[in-house]
Amino acid sequence: MTTLDAVLQDIDQCAQRAGRPAGRVRLIAVSKGHPPGALAALAAQGQRAFGENYVQEAMTKIPLFADAGLEWHFLGSLQRNKARFVAAHFDWFHSLDSLPLARSLAGHLQAAGRTLEVLIGVNSLEDGTKQGLTYADLPSFLEAFLADPALALVLHLRGLMTIGPHPVQAAASARCFGGLREALEATARRFALAHFDQLSMGMSEDYRIAIAEGATMVRIGRALLDERPRKT
Ligand SMILES: *Cc1c(COP(=O)(O)O)cnc(C)c1O
Repeated sequence: MTTLDAVLQDIDQCAQRAGRPAGRVRLIAVSKGHPPGALAALAAQGQRAFGENYVQEAMTKIPLFADAGLEWHFLGSLQRNKARFVAAHFDWFHSLDSLPLARSLAGHLQAAGRTLEVLIGVNSLEDGTKQGLTYADLPSFLEAFLADPALALVLHLRGLMTIGPHPVQAAASARCFGGLREALEATARRFALAHFDQLSMGMSEDYRIAIAEGATMVRIGRALLDERPRKT
């Protein structure tokens, strides 16, 4: 069995154990720091969704797969001056956390005639070290976003993303991920958002906990791709 098959099987089993219907958890293969050959090998095995964190690195990789039908997810924090590249080449953006960035992305998307599926990045641990909005900031962000109809035309708000506590501790991780699920439901209801149903949470060390708490996308790097020197 390939590593990819093993991870996919484990994801299915976790979902089953949690009493969740099959096929509701997507694997995002996080390929940052890995050469194009590693991505090509996964793509040849049927993996479609890939996550990259750095614009510079992604710029060298994505064009190599122009005809491969892959889906690109931008995971990292994004400087506004690099929004043009994300708007031009990515399908999903996991970490929207500011209105100026939303405006910048929307402008480039409009010009390029593209749209982007968007998750709002939440700093659920509120530890002051990670990117993302706090839960307290979420309502005012959404009010401002929705007040400008031009944004929603090209930026499709699809859900929330977070990074769990490190090191992983079962109870604290479950609380973190369960909290994101509750925030997703409350936000979708309060703002009557129709397709706001995606939870991007869970990485190599905590994806099982995240799936039990309702993750619809798990972002897995190290458990999928062999350990090699990383660029981070
Ligand atoms: C690197 C990264 C991942 C993957 O982490 P692994 O521990 O390698 O599975 C997931 N999400 C984000 C935001 C990342 O930066």
